[in-house]
Amino acid sequence: MLERVGLQPVLAKRYPHELSGGQRQRVAIARALITHPKFVVFDEAVSALDVSVEAQILNLIRELQAEAGFAALFISHDLTAVRYVAVRIAVMYAGEIVEAATAETLYGRGLHPYTRGLQAASDLIDDENARLADASEEVAPEGCPLTPRCPIATEKCGLEHPALRQIGETLVACHHPEGPAGHA
Ligand code: SF4
Repeated sequence: MLERVGLQPVLAKRYPHELSGGQRQRVAIARALITHPKFVVFDEAVSALDVSVEAQILNLIRELQAEAGFAALFISHDLTAVRYVAVRIAVMYAGEIVEAATAETLYGRGLHPYTRGLQAASDLIDDENARLADASEEVAPEGCPLTPRCPIATEKCGLEHPALRQIGETLVACHHPEGPAGHA
């Protein structure tokens, strides 16, 4: 199993502090796959790694998945990593799924203002990303939690919680998924 994740078996005798971050992540993957699971959760699997090691681990996950055929749930704040590994993406805000679609559809045309904001912010700076993701401001429970930060919020947004609904190939929870021109 160690060889399968790109490690020399001799490393089995080492303690965790004698391994690099990338090696420890490979050990974690080996440990998860040794029972031949049908479903694996990768929870922030690359968040503590530097960019070059992150790319190696993402490639490894893709290779192992193609080889072993397990289903995978990849949880991450890193949009670049998500785009690289995911077939279908669900975007969450304040503990709820606000948009879900195939990676191709979502990156081609995200409908939810939070999705669009995240994609724009990922090209900008981390502060902007953090501001958008900040769900700490109090919102009436019956309203949309993004209301204080949403650039296209209307009065309806503060009063009515948007339900997840199907628009084309996308599931989206927003009163105005088409943007300002689509206000209803
Ligand atoms: S429901 Fe309103 S506040 Fe919430 S994301 Fe849509 S437009 Fe913005």
